[in-house]
Amino acid sequence: LSRRLTSRAQEKEIGLLVRVLNKMFADLETSFMAQKRFTADASHELRLPLTILKGEIEVALRHPRSEGEYQQILRQQLGTIDRIQRIVNDLLTLARADAGQLELVQTPVDLSLLLQEVGQQHLILFDSQHVALEMDIEDDLEIMGDATQIERTMMNLLSNAFKHAPEHSAIYLSATAVKESVIICVRDEGPGIAEEQQGALFDRFFRADDARCRKDGEGAGLGLAICKRIVDAHEGDIWVQSKQGEGSSFFVRLPLHRAETAHQQRVSDVM
Ligand code: ADP
Repeated sequence: LSRRLTSRAQEKEIGLLVRVLNKMFADLETSFMAQKRFTADASHELRLPLTILKGEIEVALRHPRSEGEYQQILRQQLGTIDRIQRIVNDLLTLARADAGQLELVQTPVDLSLLLQEVGQQHLILFDSQHVALEMDIEDDLEIMGDATQIERTMMNLLSNAFKHAPEHSAIYLSATAVKESVIICVRDEGPGIAEEQQGALFDRFFRADDARCRKDGEGAGLGLAICKRIVDAHEGDIWVQSKQGEGSSFFVRLPLHRAETAHQQRVSDVM
């Protein structure tokens, strides 16, 4: 009997081991496939602007041109190189974040001030397209975080809102303290996002709409993926609420940094 019991226990253990190994292989395959897709997507995104650049140079070299024409061609090429540079930088940020190497310089950040400043920076651009910016930002919102990365997140959300905002519409930027967090919202009155597409919105290379409705050329679908990595690294959340035809609201939740909480923490560390 005891031998039968032992072999049953061994069988159980082997069964468990097989399940663990299967899960490990499945995880490895998923990560391998993700890596493969990332490489394929990245090359695809870079191939297009590189082909454009090559075409521009070939056409420019076909016959002699005036200095003015060369200047114009060079300006165009600079624009294409800028786009390639942006994609490469974004890919690098994503790769670092995926490897857990997104380096945050964490300091107390006056979020109210940061949001006001980011909003102000966009006023002229918005105004040129007859888009209004309405800000409702609570005072004294302080977080612990990396100001540069938070600013980058807000810039991405505001520029997305702007890309999709119709003329003579408004973009609303608000920030409110709710319990131990701050909730930031960027709302636009654009076309909105179909419900079935909202789940993939924060995946890299995801583009929900037709590139033709864009104001500043085609994006690579990396902005929101980067926002998510940055917000995750701050132990926050990012999500969207949208209905097609009724605009979109992007929310960011970040933990508030309260001076007294930090003080209490220090006191309890000592005790
Ligand atoms: P991209 O650089 O292509 O804009 P993002 O990651 O910032 O990349 O956005 C991914 C996709 O989400 C966009 O291609 C767009 O289709 C959709 N999207 C993002 N923000 C908005 C918005 N405010 N309104 C409508 N669609 C949006």
